[in-house]
Amino acid sequence: MSLRDYVRKRRFDRTPEPPADTVQRDRTHTPIFVVQLHEARTRHYDFRLEVDGVLKSWAVPKGPSLRPADKRLAIEVEDHPLAYATFHGEIPPGQYGAGHVEIFDHGRYLPEGDPGENLRAGKLAFELRGKHLRGGWLLLRTQMDGDARHWLLIKHDDAHAGNLEADDFAVSPKKSMRHRTRTSK
Ligand code: MN
Repeated sequence: MSLRDYVRKRRFDRTPEPPADTVQRDRTHTPIFVVQLHEARTRHYDFRLEVDGVLKSWAVPKGPSLRPADKRLAIEVEDHPLAYATFHGEIPPGQYGAGHVEIFDHGRYLPEGDPGENLRAGKLAFELRGKHLRGGWLLLRTQMDGDARHWLLIKHDDAHAGNLEADDFAVSPKKSMRHRTRTSK
């Protein structure tokens, strides 16, 4: 049901992205998260949390930061199917979100309380158990610019905080291509 926008925006005969699935996972398992680096027209990270059988999704223009003082804008976008958690590759030119997608981090996450209810209320605290992103985090809906889709993604000040952000781990294909050009011959 909530994947209607996901399906409406895409042509599955033209994009390698997964079609909407109807997997109903049992609610007692530890849910997953994934962060994808998306080299679309505007480079951003996509932050996704499994909630009630779908991936709730936010586009984070500057990417997650391990600095608790960095409040990263996270723009809520359409729910994605769970199968999207393993997607990486090229969305062809002319298709929605055209550009390179790679997985930056993934793993399990532990929500505080009921994540669906808390997201509807505009505030979700959770623990990430990824490779780069770990420890406590907070998603907070703002009324910034009067847009209800605008959230802040904030690292909790704990042992997993640090003076690093996603770009310090991820090397974009464009950057590595420049690097190759510079070092060739
Ligand atoms: Mn994206």
